[in-house]
Amino acid sequence: MSSKPRGGCPGASSCGRPPGVREETTMHDHRRLGRELELFDTDPLIGAGLPYWLPDGATVRHALEEYVRDQERRAGYRHVYSPVLGKRDLYQISGHWSHYRDDMFPPMDVGAEQLVLRPSLCPHHAIIYRSRSHSYRELPLRMAELGGMYRSELSGVLGGLTRVRAIQLNDAHIFCTVDQVADEARGALDMIRRAHHAMGIVPARYRLSLPGPGGKYVAAPELWRRATDLLTEVLDGSGLQYEAAEGEAAFYGPKIDVQIADGAGRESTLSTVQVDFHQPERFGLHYVGADGGRHRPVMVHRSVIGSVERAVAHLIERHGGAFPAWLAPVQVVVLPVSGEQAGDAEAIAERARGLGLRAEVAGPERGGLAARVREARLVPYQAVVGAREAADGRAALRLRDGRRLDPRPADALLLRIRSLVAAHSPALWPADAG
Ligand SMILES: [Zn+2]
Repeated sequence: MSSKPRGGCPGASSCGRPPGVREETTMHDHRRLGRELELFDTDPLIGAGLPYWLPDGATVRHALEEYVRDQERRAGYRHVYSPVLGKRDLYQISGHWSHYRDDMFPPMDVGAEQLVLRPSLCPHHAIIYRSRSHSYRELPLRMAELGGMYRSELSGVLGGLTRVRAIQLNDAHIFCTVDQVADEARGALDMIRRAHHAMGIVPARYRLSLPGPGGKYVAAPELWRRATDLLTEVLDGSGLQYEAAEGEAAFYGPKIDVQIADGAGRESTLSTVQVDFHQPERFGLHYVGADGGRHRPVMVHRSVIGSVERAVAHLIERHGGAFPAWLAPVQVVVLPVSGEQAGDAEAIAERARGLGLRAEVAGPERGGLAARVREARLVPYQAVVGAREAADGRAALRLRDGRRLDPRPADALLLRIRSLVAAHSPALWPADAG
């Protein structure tokens, strides 16, 4: 594993195969499936490591982004937008320029200035925090953004959605007092666990990432010790199994990394929680305390799903394209048995769309019923409408996993599906779903 420290939140995470991780033959190759299922692709003229998203892939991505934003809103985060470019000076102050320059694209000369594509969102958020004065009453102040960042990977290592040069990062920074760090880190860890459950993801392991030998880390032993103690306290209290790993910290602080593994056992970081005393110092951040004096906040960096690219790649590999219903490009396919039920089928699909579901009709012009069911094998809910069902507004539901439910009123079925989707249920039809 590389001992290079990490520069940004998790888009810049490591990728190595630890010994002893078993092969998971059920995992799929996301590059092959991504092309077959028309989720994403690349073109040499756009460039290696710069995938584009096709409509079905964009739908999955949009659902995932909306889920994360919604979870963040519920947890008291406020969203911001910040530009993907910044002056070189910004990254000199943050420390990225001295610790992380090899992974950044070369600066662009624009007049007398040098602009760089950002390697992380943290410096922009520190500046946004600094742009207004803050009282201790506003803390913890939780700032979130799903924003672009860039990494100058060599073209030889690029591929699919896992090694890319343009990264869309689910990132957030919590500005808080030292006393609030443990609670905030715990809250972030809870969000991460909820998200993994909804996504049907099982982490390979939790890792406490510490600095290693070498001068690649900010030198402040006392601050490293405090930050490490705080994260250790959170992990020990969580009941989670974890292991400590040297040489995997960010250059500015230790972190909790939630590791996932691909089909070949290669590990990478999906989610992360980091404690940072360094950047608040470098940017001169402060808040006004109850005593009227100026105090330094701590920055907790956290990401729930990491980079959108890596998260979707893992979802494709984990589920083989059979995404949890709330992420599926098409959630409901309505199958009229014959052309005579085409109008009824279209009416059901329209009602489903009216309820916010992604629904379409696959009629007999696309083949016999069995062939259409096969074609829709990745669609979580298949509503079959024959002459008897059409006569009284019912549909017979087939689930993607092969289960079949007795015919029941189509409206009730759609409402039930909508509530499962709205709850981000990882199960297609839980036992209590009737
Ligand atoms: Zn950050």
